[in-house]
Amino acid sequence: MTAEEKSSLARFLDIAAASAQGGYAETPGEYGFLDDSDPLPPRGGGGDRLEADSLERIGIDARGCAACRLAETRKNAVPGEGVPQPLVMVIGEGPGANEDESGRPFVGNAGQLLDRMLGSIGLSREKNCFIANVIKCRPPRNRDPLPDETFACAPFLERQIRLLKPAFILGAGRIATQTLLDTSDSIGKLRGRITKLNIAGMTIPFLATYHPSALLHNEELKRPAWEDLKLLRSALAEAGLDPADSQGA
Ligand code: URA
Repeated sequence: MTAEEKSSLARFLDIAAASAQGGYAETPGEYGFLDDSDPLPPRGGGGDRLEADSLERIGIDARGCAACRLAETRKNAVPGEGVPQPLVMVIGEGPGANEDESGRPFVGNAGQLLDRMLGSIGLSREKNCFIANVIKCRPPRNRDPLPDETFACAPFLERQIRLLKPAFILGAGRIATQTLLDTSDSIGKLRGRITKLNIAGMTIPFLATYHPSALLHNEELKRPAWEDLKLLRSALAEAGLDPADSQGA
C-alpha cells in the first residue's frame, strides 16, 4: 500500500469514528505513514556482520551505535554480561542510572536482588547465565523505551541470542516480556508458565517473571516470583540441566 492510500484509509476511519459518536472529525494532520516499499527506519546492531560475529563485536557495535536518540543521552551503552554458553539468559527492559554509569547490566538495587534470586536456584552471571536487556541504552529519566528505539535495538539482542544459544530465557518484567512475546497482555497473565519463544531463528523455552524492581516496591509479588524461580529450576532439571555442572566463563 502506498503512504497516500494508508492516509486516505486512516482519514476515512477517523471520520467514520467521529460521526459514529455524533460529531465531526477535526481536520486530520499528517499521519506519517510510509509506503510499503519505503526503507524501514534505521536499526542498530550491524546485522551485516553475522558471519564473523562475537560477543565482543556486539559490545563494540553497541557502544558505537547511533541508530536512535538514546545515543545522545547515554553515558555508556550496556550490551550485557555473563558466560558464553548460558543455561539461562535473563532479559530485562533497559539500563537504569547505575547501569548507564557503569556500562554493566543489573548492578543497582534491582540488579542485586536479581543476583540473589538467581543465586537461590544455583544460577549466576559468573557461572551459568547471561544478563542483557531489550534495549542497550538508558532512556532519559528511566521512561519506557519507545517503539522505534526497541525496533532499532532489536538486532543486538538477536545477535546475542544467536551466539549464546541459551537453554532457557527468563523475561524480567512487563516491558521485556511484552516486547519479546509481542503482546500487550499483563505480566500477571504472562508469568508463571513455560512457553516457547521464537527468536533469532530458534525456539527457546521461555519463562516470564516480575521485574526485581517491582518486587522491591511490592512485597506481595515476592511469593509468585519465587514460584516462578522454582518452576525454572524444575524445568532445567527436567531438561537434564544442572546449574551445578556449569562452567564459569
Ligand atoms: N532494569 C533493567 O531492566 N535492566 C537493567 O539492566 C537494570 C535495571
